[in-house]
Parts: sequence; structure tokens; C-alpha cells
Amino acid sequence: MIRKALIALALVLVIGATTAYVARDSLLGWAIRQRIQQGPDQAFATDHNGIKVLICGTGTPEVSSARAQACTLVAAGGKLFLFDVGDGALRSLSASRIPVNDLEQVFVTHFHSDHFNDLGALINAGWIWGRETPLTVAGPQGLAHVMAGFAEAYALDEGYRSANMPHLAERRAIAGAVAREIAFGDGQRSVRVYDRGGVTIDAVLVAHEPVRPALGYVLRYKGRKLFISGDTKVSPVNLPAMQGADMVVHESYAGHMVRRAIPEMRKLGMEFDARVAERTIPYHADNLALARQAQAAGVKHLVLTHLIPNPDNAVVRAMYTEGMSELYKGPITVAEDGMVLTF
Ligand SMILES: [Zn+2]
Ligand SMILES: [Zn+2]
Repeated sequence: MIRKALIALALVLVIGATTAYVARDSLLGWAIRQRIQQGPDQAFATDHNGIKVLICGTGTPEVSSARAQACTLVAAGGKLFLFDVGDGALRSLSASRIPVNDLEQVFVTHFHSDHFNDLGALINAGWIWGRETPLTVAGPQGLAHVMAGFAEAYALDEGYRSANMPHLAERRAIAGAVAREIAFGDGQRSVRVYDRGGVTIDAVLVAHEPVRPALGYVLRYKGRKLFISGDTKVSPVNLPAMQGADMVVHESYAGHMVRRAIPEMRKLGMEFDARVAERTIPYHADNLALARQAQAAGVKHLVLTHLIPNPDNAVVRAMYTEGMSELYKGPITVAEDGMVLTF
């Protein structure tokens, strides 16, 4: 019985191998076509009627192979808006098959490097891979300075590629993006920075001193409201932006864990790490204070990103939101890279 089955299996293998050999050209052609057509998901921006959020980076300055740095992509009104472009953002967007050449606009929250490390790479990749118009990047004061630096850093690359590829030389304007610095009047805390096709985006000043200005963004579409906090401590200045929001994508800091970790670091002789940890406490959003504020502001869904400490093991994951649900009655999502949320 076993012998018969083995002979049958061998026969199938021989016939299969022979067929594959005879048809190798058409098989190869098929594989090549599959690879070429493996493009981005063109329907990502249009297949949902409300607001769609892709959390493309949940990381922090701490470099992690599992988490890209700050990155939140929003699809609304058939357009794609990118908020922050930290290290790994491009790879993460590619993993989610986002057509990055079609980005409507990029918004940067502030100039801590974990929020713009991949911005130069994004602009450069758009030029190389066929973006049709220069990318517009909006951000706080200082943006023009940062983008001029990227232009300088990529100048040699631009020269080499233009010399080799005439179609890129013709489109050199696309290699340089457009910088739009957001200005606030005296006492003004909110500025409309986008208003088209039913989508509005307001930049709001948040509390991340000594980083000044540091911005969050409020996006509205079809009566729905989304607040992306950028980096901020929990502060009453953020209340108007959070008020009644259907979703808040907020930076998050499990202070109860960091405070417990600092003496452990000292015991292990990790004085440098202990000092870094101490200095991060005052300007990030303590989870418990955040839960309290989200409840007061009537937030419908709280999404935590920019996760400190990195919940990369079961214990940290279990403890990360400890105590929050007693203070905030809505759903809490600890985001992962690649997570898509709609409302
Ligand atoms: Zn940050
Ligand atoms: Zn920051």
C-alpha cells in the first residue's frame, strides 16, 4: 500500500517537473508579470466613505526593528494625508501598499528627528519613482531650514541620476518639495491649513516645551473629527482639539512603568539611560492623565501611539494601559504598525 502510494507520488513529481520544464518560458513570463504588477493599493484612498487611518509608525527615538518612528496616514475625501515621517515610515507605507506618489500633502508636527527622519527619503523617492507634481510639506516654523538641508544633502544624488536619466532631468522640480511654514498670529492657537473637497485640517499648538512651536492636527470630514496629537504632554491647551473627537491618535507615555524602571537602571549602572528617562517624563503624555482628559473631552476612541516604553514583550504590553480604563470609558487601542482604523 505504502509502496503504491510512493510510486504514485514519484510519478506526479516527475510529470510536474517535466511540465514545468517544458512550460518554463511561460512560467517565467507569469512570474515577471506578477512581480511588475505588485503595485500599491490604488483603492486605499477611496474604498471607505468616512475617515480611514493607517498607523504607519508607533515608535519613538529609540530605534526598533518592529516599529517605525512617528507616522500616521489618513485617507479622507479620496485623498491621502501623511502626518510625520519618522525613520522607517517609507518602508512601513510600502508594506501597507500605500501609493506614496499620490500623497496630497505631508504635515510635520515638530522637528524632533523621530518625526522627520524619513522626509528627505520620501521626497527623493517621489522624484525617482514618477511623482507628477512637487510634494507639498507643511509644518511649523523651521521647516524651510530643514528642507533646505535635505535639498543640499540630496544634491549629488540629483546630479548623478539626472545625468543618467533624461526623464528625471526634465522633472527636476519634483526633486525639490514645496515647504509651507505654518504661522500663528499673536494669541492664536489654531490655524486652518487645508480646506478642499470637504476635508479641513487645522494645525493646533500643543505643549511639548522646549520644542516651540510643536503642532497637532485636527482633520474633519463629513461631520467626523480626528485629532492627531504629535508630541505633547497632557495639557488643558489641547482640550479644544480633543473635544468631541471621534478618534484621537495620541502620543502615549506609561509613566508608572518608566518611574519604576529608573531605579532599576541605576542599580544596573545604567546612569545615562536613567537620566534620559527622567528628562522625558515632563514633556510626554502620561497615560493616566491622558485617559482622564479623554474622558473629560468626550473622546469616542483613544488610539495610543509613540509608545514609551516600547511594549515589545508580554509583561510591558499587559501593564502598558494599567489604570486607564477606570478613568476613560471609551475604547483604548494600543496601536501597532500597519493597523488600519475607520470611522
Ligand atoms: Zn517624538
Ligand atoms: Zn518630540
